[in-house]
Amino acid sequence: MILVCGGAGYIGSHAVKQLLDCNYKVLVIDNLSTGYKENIDSRALFYNVDIRDFKELDNIFKMHKIDAVLHFAANSIVSESVKDPYKYYENNVLGSLNLLKCMKNNNILKIVFSSTAAVYGNPKRVPIEETDETIPTNPYGETKLAIEKILKWFDNAYNIKYISLRYFNVAGADKSANIGEMHNPETHLIPLVIKTALGEREYMYIFGDDYNTFDGTCIRDYIHVTDLVDAHILALEKLLNNSESNIYNLGYGEGFSVKQIIERVSYVTNSNIKVKIEKRRDGDPDILIANPNKAINDLRFKPKYNDLDYIIKSAFNWHKKFI
Ligand code: UDP
Repeated sequence: MILVCGGAGYIGSHAVKQLLDCNYKVLVIDNLSTGYKENIDSRALFYNVDIRDFKELDNIFKMHKIDAVLHFAANSIVSESVKDPYKYYENNVLGSLNLLKCMKNNNILKIVFSSTAAVYGNPKRVPIEETDETIPTNPYGETKLAIEKILKWFDNAYNIKYISLRYFNVAGADKSANIGEMHNPETHLIPLVIKTALGEREYMYIFGDDYNTFDGTCIRDYIHVTDLVDAHILALEKLLNNSESNIYNLGYGEGFSVKQIIERVSYVTNSNIKVKIEKRRDGDPDILIANPNKAINDLRFKPKYNDLDYIIKSAFNWHKKFI
C-alpha cells in the first residue's frame, strides 16, 4: 500500500488517481487545510489527519502495511511564506520531521518528496542542473531545502531512501476534467489567466515587465501535472526496486514568459484578456528553466504533454466544469 500525504490537494489528488490507475492500493492522509475531500478518488482509503499529529499518524502506520510514502502535504505559496514564515516552518519542516519519525519507528524506508525549483533562488544560469547552487530567496524554498537536508541525514543514519523531485511550474488538469488546480485564494498564473478569460476577473495583472527577458516578463518552465505525477510513479518504482536516494528536476526544459502565457490562453479560449502592469512580486527570479536530463536518463521520464496549448486546454476544461 502507498501512503499519499496531502492527497486531497492539486498535485496529490492527481497522484492518487494515477497510482490507482496503475493498480496500487492507496491510503490518503490530508488535514483538508488547503485540499478538498471531493478531490480524493473514491477508490482510496482516506484519513483526515494532520501529519504533525504523531499519535494519529503512528496509529495509521500500525494499522496498514505501508510500502512507501509520497509526501505532498505542505504549504506552498511564496508570498504567504514571506509574511508568515512560522506557518511554513511548522507545517512543512515540523510536519515532515514528524512523518519521518513515524516512518523510522515503523520501519518504512522509502519516500518520494515534493521539492521545488524555489530551492535554487536566483539561478546563476539556465537551464538549471540539480548540482547548481541552492540559495532560496523565500521561506517556502528554505523549508523545502531544509527537508531535503533532513532526508539526506536520515538516509545516512536510518537508511530511509528518498527521491526528492524539484518541481518547476506545475499546471493543467487530468484529462477526465474531474480534478484540477483549485487554490483559495488562487495565486498561480495559468488558473488566474483562465479565470480572467472566463470573465470571473476583469483584468490580468502582470507582476513586472522590466525583467531581464526578451519581453520584460518572467519566464517559467510549465509542466503538465499528469507528466509530473508520472515521474513520481517512476521514482516510487525506482525506490521499490531498492535504488539509492536522489534528487531530480521536473520540468520540460522550455520557458514561456508571462505575456506568452496570456497570449496563448487568449488564443486557446478564444477570448480577449485585458491586462494591467503591476509592480514586481517579491522574490520572483527573471527566468527559471529546468534541465530535465537527469530525470529523463535515470528515471526514464518520458513527458507526454509537453505542449503549452494542451496544458492550457486541460486546465480550461476543468475550470469550465467546476468553477
Ligand atoms: N504572475 C503574474 N500575475 C499573476 C500571477 C503570477 O504576473 O497574477 C507571474 C509571477 O510573477 C511569475 C509567474 O507569473 O513570474 C508564475 O507565477 P506563479 O505564481 O504561477 O508560479 P511561481 O513561479 O511563483 O511558482
